[in-house]
Amino acid sequence: MYAEVIVDVAAYPIDRAFDYSVPESFQDLIESGSRVKVPFGNRQVLGFVTALKSETDVPLEKQKPIGELLDIEPVLTQEMLAMTKWMKRHTLCYEIDALQVMLPSALRAKYEKVLRILDKSVELPSAVQALFHQKNHVELKADESKELLSTIKKLVKADVLALETAVKQKTAVKKVRMVHIEEDMDRLKSIYDNISNQAKKQKEAVQWMMDHPGKRMIATELLKQLNISNSILQEIMKKGAAILELDEVYRDPYAERTINTSSKLSLTSEQDAALSEILHSYENHEPKTFLLHGITGSGKTEVYLQAIERVLHDQKEAIMLVPEISLTPQMTNRFKERFGALVAVLHSGLSTGEKYDEWRKIRRGEVKVVVGARSAVFAPFSNIGLIILDEEHESTYKQDDSPRYHARDIAIWRSEYHNCPVILGSATPSLESYARAKKGNYGLLTLANRPKEQALPEVSVVDMREQLKNGNRSMFSLELAEAIQVRLDKQEQMVLFLNRRGHSSFVLCRDCGTVVECPNCDISMTYHRHQEKIKCHYCGEESHVPANCPECQSEHIRFFGTGTQKVEEEISKFFPAARVLRMDVDTTRKKGAHERILQQFGEGKADILLGTQMIAKGLDFPNITLVGVLSADTTLHLADFRAAEKTFQLLTQVSGRAGRHDKEGKVIVQTYTPEHYAILFAQNHDFVPFYNQEMMNRKQFAYPPFTYVVLLQFTHEDVLMTAEYAHKAANWLRQNLSNATEVIGPSASSISRLQNRYRYQCLIKYKKEPTLPEILQQLTRMYRTDWMKKGILMSIDLNPSSIM
Ligand code: ADP
Ligand code: ZN
Ligand code: ZN
Repeated sequence: MYAEVIVDVAAYPIDRAFDYSVPESFQDLIESGSRVKVPFGNRQVLGFVTALKSETDVPLEKQKPIGELLDIEPVLTQEMLAMTKWMKRHTLCYEIDALQVMLPSALRAKYEKVLRILDKSVELPSAVQALFHQKNHVELKADESKELLSTIKKLVKADVLALETAVKQKTAVKKVRMVHIEEDMDRLKSIYDNISNQAKKQKEAVQWMMDHPGKRMIATELLKQLNISNSILQEIMKKGAAILELDEVYRDPYAERTINTSSKLSLTSEQDAALSEILHSYENHEPKTFLLHGITGSGKTEVYLQAIERVLHDQKEAIMLVPEISLTPQMTNRFKERFGALVAVLHSGLSTGEKYDEWRKIRRGEVKVVVGARSAVFAPFSNIGLIILDEEHESTYKQDDSPRYHARDIAIWRSEYHNCPVILGSATPSLESYARAKKGNYGLLTLANRPKEQALPEVSVVDMREQLKNGNRSMFSLELAEAIQVRLDKQEQMVLFLNRRGHSSFVLCRDCGTVVECPNCDISMTYHRHQEKIKCHYCGEESHVPANCPECQSEHIRFFGTGTQKVEEEISKFFPAARVLRMDVDTTRKKGAHERILQQFGEGKADILLGTQMIAKGLDFPNITLVGVLSADTTLHLADFRAAEKTFQLLTQVSGRAGRHDKEGKVIVQTYTPEHYAILFAQNHDFVPFYNQEMMNRKQFAYPPFTYVVLLQFTHEDVLMTAEYAHKAANWLRQNLSNATEVIGPSASSISRLQNRYRYQCLIKYKKEPTLPEILQQLTRMYRTDWMKKGILMSIDLNPSSIM
């Protein structure tokens, strides 16, 4: 018997399975999806069995056996193995990367195998019993006999035993020491009689145990109860009056939170119509994708909750994805409130051990709903009835490094595997999804109203050019400053939003709002401080920073950008009494920081929440009556063809934060380009007209969804090498792709140097290119066998979420 094994060797240039022979002793136990240790070169590495077969092309003298079988029950399901193949082809990743991304990190780290008794009522065969030495868990050694392992496997399948991988680090399965008192009264009595009368404490303790035969207690509590020391307890346990057991407990990251329970609301007719369509597909086992387009606060979440309730009723499972879970504690709570202990929450703030605990609950079917960020789409459920992506337009659903998958694609793939529907929900759907819905590829469901008919907040747009003309050089317009003061006086809360993306920088005229754009590409040119130049990082066009505005000749044309810290200083200058909470990458590095800040704000401990785009999502506090956007221009002039779309989404999302409850809300947007359609349509909460206008622009410049794009990025410490290989790749692509396909660049990336490596990129834009995966695979092979040795790093991103 042979096993095909994908080995965990990072960056190994050959991405394929290797055949290993399966030793006699594992043949009954091994399954595809099991992890193994195999010899590779001169060391042992972790591998995943992807298939088993009876023949191999490897000549006998070169065959190597599997060294160790790490799982009796495979960690990867057949579904995951099939998904891996798909991911490899569609994201051009190493197969090992695809396998690893589906597992919690605990299963990739150092491990030991632990066998635990699940069902104490079943009498174990004596050979198995002997393993346990009176404990309820033992480490299982790999060298146990084949017969014994087979017996264990049967018991594991029958849920009598559990076999787990425990991580050899602090975050291993959490255990609590339990004392299990002997049940047999005669035995206790004879132990009691044999203790000398001098050992008074011991005698008293056993006396107490005779009153509580068979009882199990946490060791520390027993010590307290009997008022004895640990050494006395050890003495009487040696005599057989009790044994020590280690109980596994799940870490509960929500243990300290009190969760209320909630029951379902009666739906509005719009919600009801949406829900029935979804359930209709669900009942007919249709793998249909729905786009649920509902304005902010229209009750999308209630629709999700009730759809999930139906799925749970049938004993099926549901996956609920959110863009960034630590920003949505309120959303998470709503799921916990509705479904209680059936919900597992997976997110990046959990420790390795906590994540592993949640993963095991899912795998064992102890929970039925998973709420989590991107990677939760891989939740190892086996009977999925529904998958939901909330805020489907968010770019966090796309992973930036290998495997570069989009959670939406995985969700749809899994829905086809399980024959169940997918819901994509958003107030501001991505252009791609809305276009698919309009074409009929997705079902389109619309919630155009809020359930309690609350009005959407009034949005006023302030022209910052006028402020400058009137002598106001501060970052607060008069209107915004006044609105802040009014809220401070009334003790209402507000959110100030500074949309700044790390490295984005452009040149803006503060008198007329002009931003220098590339004549070829319709995107903003990027400012390069060192050379005082502006460059287009799509096509490579470059020029000097103009001294005067090309439109109005003003001298006030310069690099534009402000940090949250600077805003904080300005606030304290203008509003010394205001209490400010700042939420940005600096204040949220620590685990739980997001939640803490939001909680403090919710408790009214600050007047102003100041933050970057991360605060645009999910916030829902009754006392927020003002949202201020300090500069809409920063997103509007991102060097990306999605700049307008991202601006529209952000403005709509932040506007949704104000006046969600009884108090009326107001939104103030400051900008140097108030006439831009993205701002005007966001002002009126008008998605569809925005969509139509933006689609016209995309069509004119042949950007998605009218084409597909692939971003290739090249980095090297040497700038000439970077450029050389970027050109090599671009030329090779031009020769091999069809004539209708455009290869743009190469050019310096918007961030032209990062961590001492120069960055170049080129862009493939195509409508139809059936052999693209093969062509890119061929390029990848050239890269892996040759270019990589020269220190070049190349990445290929299909359908990138941003082209920065
Ligand atoms: P969305 O997810 O679309 O932003 P939510 O589901 O958060 O909207 O709903 C917004 C508010 O409306 C919430 O406070 C929610 O409890 C309430 N709500 C939703 N559906 C109903 C309903 N059918 N009847 C009454 N209130 C509702
Ligand atoms: Zn100007
Ligand atoms: Zn250009």
